[in-house]
Amino acid sequence: MSADFDLFQISEEHQMLRETVRGLAEAKIAPFAAEVDEQARFPQEALDALVASELQAVHVPEEYGGAGADALATVIVIEEVARVCVSSSLIPAVNKLGSLPVILSGSEELKKQYLAPLAKGDAMFSYCLSEPDAGSDAAGMKTRAVRDGDDYVLNGVKRWITNAGVSEYYTVMAVTDPEKRSKGISAFVVEKGDEGVSFGAPEKKLGIKGSPTREVYFDNVRIPASRMIGAEGTGFATAMKTLDHTRITIAAQALGVAQGALDYAKGYVNERKQFGKAIAEFQGIQFMLADMAMKLEAARQLTYAAAAKSQRVDSDLTFFGAAAKCFASDVAMEVTTDAVQLLGGYGYTRDYPLERMMRDAKITQIYEGTNQVQRIVMARNLP
Ligand SMILES: Cc1cc2nc3c(=O)[nH]c(=O)nc-3n(C[C@H](O)[C@H](O)[C@H](O)COP(=O)(O)OP(=O)(O)OC[C@H]3O[C@@H](n4cnc5c(N)ncnc54)[C@H](O)[C@@H]3O)c2cc1C
Repeated sequence: MSADFDLFQISEEHQMLRETVRGLAEAKIAPFAAEVDEQARFPQEALDALVASELQAVHVPEEYGGAGADALATVIVIEEVARVCVSSSLIPAVNKLGSLPVILSGSEELKKQYLAPLAKGDAMFSYCLSEPDAGSDAAGMKTRAVRDGDDYVLNGVKRWITNAGVSEYYTVMAVTDPEKRSKGISAFVVEKGDEGVSFGAPEKKLGIKGSPTREVYFDNVRIPASRMIGAEGTGFATAMKTLDHTRITIAAQALGVAQGALDYAKGYVNERKQFGKAIAEFQGIQFMLADMAMKLEAARQLTYAAAAKSQRVDSDLTFFGAAAKCFASDVAMEVTTDAVQLLGGYGYTRDYPLERMMRDAKITQIYEGTNQVQRIVMARNLP
């Protein structure tokens, strides 16, 4: 996939990728979306389908066995999966989130060891920043990593970790020097099989019920110092740099779920008759659909512009990543809520997919930094 893409004209390659992922998502992921939500179970069918088509981690560079897809291609994959099942879209999204610290700051040895299994579909990657008492104020974390000879020993608790228990690999941010606050935090790769790693019970959530969210416990986990990502004390900077790029993937989830809701509602209003005609013929309904489509397209343009900036690592990426995530997720919440409204009482039931989409959309306003935090980030980085 070309690294160079025009902002206002999606390339033919990107269009083809969208068609491929849409076909796969509709055939292999959509049929299980309601069941995955209802049973709050991992979408194994989605993982299998994504791996079979090598779409589970398209961002991995070619030199480490990946497709080397650019930021926009990754956005398109996530968007099209989220259009039918947001839970499933967390597979490619969190694979990027978990592994990007290694790609951005890891040694050659770490890249070779951990990116190849991810690209092959043999392993998934999670990202462990948040803690029970350190959410928006992530630098207030307490998980400790203490040097002991050639090793580090980790102790602490990470909370809300997506795909915990399913992923083989975990990028873990931990305090190596408590005196230095954010500059005393380092990043490490921890494996699921490392002695002393364990997981809490799955959280019972409002939405994205198919995506496991669990605590991760580190009880005297001893790992070689070579598993440190970058130099000691650079972990927090790497974690924040990662989010600049991956907030765009949350925006992609938001676009996808909003598009899925709009597409469904569009079909419904043409079928549903009241007062002797299709409700699509009422101007009040038409105006709602027009507003939904307008907001969604504005969110898409901002997200794709941010993806272009992610690809080029522009100096205003931090602002654009936060703006895209914040704007697109607010739009997703509005559009999915309006889509429920367009179905009336039917929209409020589980017989239709819209209540799931509305519940799933909500998370995009919360994770990878709440939308309040995005506004703090934007205000500090005004263009
Ligand atoms: C389903 C799910 C999956 C997640 N996956 C991951 C993951 O894989 N890895 C990971 O590390 N984390 C993950 N998270 C954690 C997520 O990023 C945090 O929940 C989020 O950053 C908010 O932290 P908190 O929940 O502690 O809320 P708090 O920080 O306690 O915030 C509570 C409220 O206060 C507001 N607030 C806080 N500070 C300010 C301020 N300075 N100004 C204005 N308002 C403020 C917030 O916006 C929010 O409305 C996940 C969370 C969920 C729910």
